[in-house]
Amino acid sequence: MESVVLATRNKGKIAEFNELLKDFGLRVIGLDEFPEIGEIPEPGETFLENSIIKAQTVANATGLVAVADDSGLEVDHLGGAPGVYSARYSGEDATPAKNNEKLLRELDGVSEKERSARFVCVMVAATPDNIRIQSRGEWEGRIAFELTGREGFGYDPLFFDPELGCVAAEMSRETKNSRSHRGKALRALMEQWPAFWEKATAKK
Ligand code: IMP
Repeated sequence: MESVVLATRNKGKIAEFNELLKDFGLRVIGLDEFPEIGEIPEPGETFLENSIIKAQTVANATGLVAVADDSGLEVDHLGGAPGVYSARYSGEDATPAKNNEKLLRELDGVSEKERSARFVCVMVAATPDNIRIQSRGEWEGRIAFELTGREGFGYDPLFFDPELGCVAAEMSRETKNSRSHRGKALRALMEQWPAFWEKATAKK
């Protein structure tokens, strides 16, 4: 069985991709199997730049097809912040709790109507010889006034989905996957996967 490397050390993400790619006869491995590849910097100003850097760095270093994603939260009232800085919004020693606290502070006094936001996820698959595909998924919602729910991670306790009438941290994993930016990006990438894989393996 051929292997694809996912540019992450997150076991949940690796399991999710394994589930999807096993239908294509592929095994997904994570960066833990390549300790020589240290932290990959994310210097880009867009999700796409960061995903390309991550996927291409890992493909070049391993000689395998690599997949990377970059995601974050864009809040309209804040001009699209925190965006690519979502994980480090509250500074060097950022935690999800501190990030959420800062977001609530920045939106203090801002009305419900003006709290529109979206999660964005960009995914890139790359081969060592620079063949790439990319996809993007968005999830529209708004920033709640207080934290609710226990599921998920990051900004989930503040991200309100108006169609479902609850925040992401109140959703089961299946419900979140069916609506989320990451679920959409992943499904869009999978649509392109058969043609990409054919090209990726053609010269071997
Ligand atoms: P990444 O791992 O570089 O893509 O960083 C994404 C950051 O954006 C995370 O650390 C979270 O702060 C935020 N984020 C992305 N997706 C989600 C989500 O589904 N729920 C909550 N926060 C998210």
